[in-house]
Amino acid sequence: MTRLDQQFIDNRWVTSRAHRWLPVTNPYSEAQIAEVTAGHPADVDAAVDAARRALPAWRALPGAQHADYLEAIASALSLRREALILASVTNNGKVRGEAAIDLDDAIACYRYYAEQARQLDARQGTPVALAMAGAEARCYHDPVGVVGLITPWNFPLVTSAWKIAPALAAGCTVIFKPSEVTPLPELALAEIAMEIGLPAGVLNLLNGDGEGIGAPLSRHPGVDKLSFTGSNTVGEAVMQAAASHTANVSLELGGKSPIIVMEDADPEQAADWVMAGIYYNAGQICSATSRLLVHEALAESLYAALATRIDALTLGDPLQAETDIGPLTRAQQRSSVQRYLDIAHQEGLVAVRDGRHRTLPDTGFFIAPTLYRDVPVASTLWREEIFGPVLCGRSVVDEAEAITLANDSDFGLAATVISGDAERARRIGRQLQAGSIWYNSEQLVLPQTGWGGFKRSGIGRELGPWGLSAYLEVKHLIGPSD
Ligand code: NAD
Repeated sequence: MTRLDQQFIDNRWVTSRAHRWLPVTNPYSEAQIAEVTAGHPADVDAAVDAARRALPAWRALPGAQHADYLEAIASALSLRREALILASVTNNGKVRGEAAIDLDDAIACYRYYAEQARQLDARQGTPVALAMAGAEARCYHDPVGVVGLITPWNFPLVTSAWKIAPALAAGCTVIFKPSEVTPLPELALAEIAMEIGLPAGVLNLLNGDGEGIGAPLSRHPGVDKLSFTGSNTVGEAVMQAAASHTANVSLELGGKSPIIVMEDADPEQAADWVMAGIYYNAGQICSATSRLLVHEALAESLYAALATRIDALTLGDPLQAETDIGPLTRAQQRSSVQRYLDIAHQEGLVAVRDGRHRTLPDTGFFIAPTLYRDVPVASTLWREEIFGPVLCGRSVVDEAEAITLANDSDFGLAATVISGDAERARRIGRQLQAGSIWYNSEQLVLPQTGWGGFKRSGIGRELGPWGLSAYLEVKHLIGPSD
């Protein structure tokens, strides 16, 4: 069994100071496939020292050279395609096709920020128009400094790419802490750093949990910025820890996103998009559209179309081509989702489909794809993020009610609007409080468009130029004009 007791610091593997171990599991076989160090605050100290030493030379490189390294990371990821897909499937439980999409997403992200790094050089020293005679001002963008990047387990390689690529493009040096649940796919990043000759200390990778690495990294005074993706509870703890040294913080947190289906939609096409919005990655998607708001005139035909599709889903070994949904990524997540299903039972929710409608595979942390209808807005299942394959639906009488109920949430990460009239869909979308709103589409996640949430879904944006800005300080030089 693989024993991950090394931390990647200063382009070398060094033994962690920790004596705690965490199991790494294959969620389909339920077998332990590795154990990973829980990490130690002394590992964080060593990584921060390395990142601080590397910062002056790295930030001084022109954007074109940062870009070359980012392109090299993208190419090295491509060359490891089969191995990385396999690592994601076996460690995360996602099906092969979805693991391949993740990898392509990560590669596209490194390439996109290579281009952004090149463009950054040209943006330095841009004159600012002033309403004062005799004065001039120029705008510069400096890297924030040493950044601590903390990611969850649901999209390994992707959530890390969304942080590492813009951070390196900005000229920051990085301490990256992957989730202790899915450390295996991310290990490639350390191998790649050595392989492409990334200068020592620019990218450090620390395995471990919140106690061993996450919390010490968040409160470390040598870290200038924390970028965190994960749960609200931990995100708030990171923000509090960062406040101890006034560090800059970006947070990508939870969601409870709506999907609106109006009466002029094609119910069969709408059903496909509803399915993809909630059952992809076994529902473990921060942007899962887990609240279905369907116009009452279309409700019966849409629920019928959804039931047919749910019945057709194959649950099983995520390595097999015929499998549509793999297991949840960890036993703890299955228990957490099961708790919501128990609450649904106590609340008397009406299940169109749930565990009674299918037999689950013999092994694996599976939850049957579940659909409740006519869910009251006060229901715990309507209001809280479940992070599993559980869709809650209710009918609306018109557009206004759909918009009001869609926005009636503590979260605001994403939304989808489906209507036979694209203009109407866009009009509804403009009134929704969320960072990404898709209309008449599946969830298209593109490096050029921003990602992040309103309200409790987070602070700041990843991807697009906004993702780069998150790692830049804005600086102005102001003085008399020549
Ligand atoms: P989590 O908050 O439990 O863990 C996330 C990371 O934080 C892990 O690496 C973990 O080790 C680390 N951590 C734990 N305690 C810490 C502490 N005290 N200080 C610093 N770091 C600590 O989340 P999870 O269970 O891994 O992921 C699921 C959550 O992530 C869901 O709520 C989901 O919505 C959210 N998520 C959001 C997005 C987004 O883009 N908004 C994307 C993916 C996942």
